[in-house]
Formats: sequence, structure tokens, C-alpha cells
Amino acid sequence: MTTRTGNAKVSRRTLLVGGLAAGSLLPAGAASARVKLSQAAVRFHAPSGDGRDCRSCKLFVAPAGCLFVEGANDPSGSCWIWSRKTA
Ligand code: SF4
Repeated sequence: MTTRTGNAKVSRRTLLVGGLAAGSLLPAGAASARVKLSQAAVRFHAPSGDGRDCRSCKLFVAPAGCLFVEGANDPSGSCWIWSRKTA
């Protein structure tokens, strides 16, 4: 499939290759930069005693952090996006 943009014919392949090339021009580390959610957004709360705490969540980063929630540094806390750790 080709698409006409201005006077040039552009194929999907050209767009894909161009997009990949542009992505490789990002500064090192930019791809791994991640915006974290606030504790309020995920309703972070104190331990509830149901076993669904940060330590049993697959998003937990030992010793006291979270991949997606900013400032979640109480391993006994929990939140709305808790997800069971497997294996
Ligand atoms: S329960 Fe919430 S804050 Fe805790 S590790 Fe999981 S996602 Fe992060």
C-alpha cells in the first residue's frame, strides 16, 4: 500500500523504517524513562491485612519501591493496581 503525501509516494515500509530510525535517535535512557503514577491516582493505602501488599505485587521493586507508583516506599502498603507476583 502506498500513500500520497504532497508530491511523494510513501509506502508503509518507508514510514516504518523512518519511524524506527527516528526512534534510534532518541538520547540514551529516553526509552527507559517512565512516568510514574501518584499514590492518590492508584489509591495507595496502608496495609489491609488481606495479603495484597506491595511485597506480593509483581510491580514491587525491592527493597521499597514500585515500578509504576511514585513514592510508594512502604512495602506493606497496597494499591488499586496491585497485581499478584508469579514465580
Ligand atoms: S501494590 Fe501498588 S504501590 Fe505496591 S508495588 Fe504494587 S503497584 Fe506498586
